[in-house]
Amino acid sequence: MNFKQQLAVVEGLNIPPDTQKRMDCPFCQNKNTFTVTTTTNSTNWYCFHASCSAKGKKNGEKTMDYVNVTFKKEDIKPQEEFKLPDSFKIVHSNNKALQYLHENNCWEACMWGRADIKYDVKQDRVVFLVKNPDTNKYAGAIGRGLSSAVYPKWYMYDNKDIPFKCGECKDAVIVEDCASACAVSNILTGIAVMGTSLKESHKKYLKPYETLYIALDRDATKKSYNIARELTSSGFHNVRVKVLHEYDLKCYSTQEIKEMFYG
Ligand SMILES: [Zn+2]
Repeated sequence: MNFKQQLAVVEGLNIPPDTQKRMDCPFCQNKNTFTVTTTTNSTNWYCFHASCSAKGKKNGEKTMDYVNVTFKKEDIKPQEEFKLPDSFKIVHSNNKALQYLHENNCWEACMWGRADIKYDVKQDRVVFLVKNPDTNKYAGAIGRGLSSAVYPKWYMYDNKDIPFKCGECKDAVIVEDCASACAVSNILTGIAVMGTSLKESHKKYLKPYETLYIALDRDATKKSYNIARELTSSGFHNVRVKVLHEYDLKCYSTQEIKEMFYG
């Protein structure tokens, strides 16, 4: 049977979208050897029986249904306000938290109020609060464990769609974590994407800057270039990769960061 004939048979099974199904093969009739996987936009089928060649894939057109399901979800969902848990205390209440801020060049950002930082007594984490720039309300928080017993090292409270931002400078730098975003914030706006890839939802928060640097940790330079490519193809024309040869940005003082970016 050719592709067209197979497709007609598979479509005749009337399998709904977003389904994975295993069944008797409509081609070789063997028991339970046939699988079909569908999305809103595609159908995949395969028979595991050695004597059967049933196999194919159809990618449909990008219908409005598909577009709605794939792209609109994030836009429609309202970003709810994040209520700070009772376990969030002022950061001065914990010495390890203060020490972390000092050692990672976050102290100044905290003192000047550029970053809202707390201590989570329940999880033993220093917590960076994330604000929604559209509403100026808290959208979530990101906590860094203060001992090796705290897992995972970084924890996302609620929000995953809005990046952590620190500073109000004309140029911004995309970094991996909140501490690096704070460390640069005297010189550049630090934007932490919490990882080495960019989410679609992050892009709208990257727009108001003259130059957009990308400086992921030194072991992720390749990923910096991936992000740069992605942003460029999304219409950003101000993207520059900053390769870090030695340490992550949180290891540098304000003066060193100034020299690194502005010579
Ligand atoms: Zn078969």
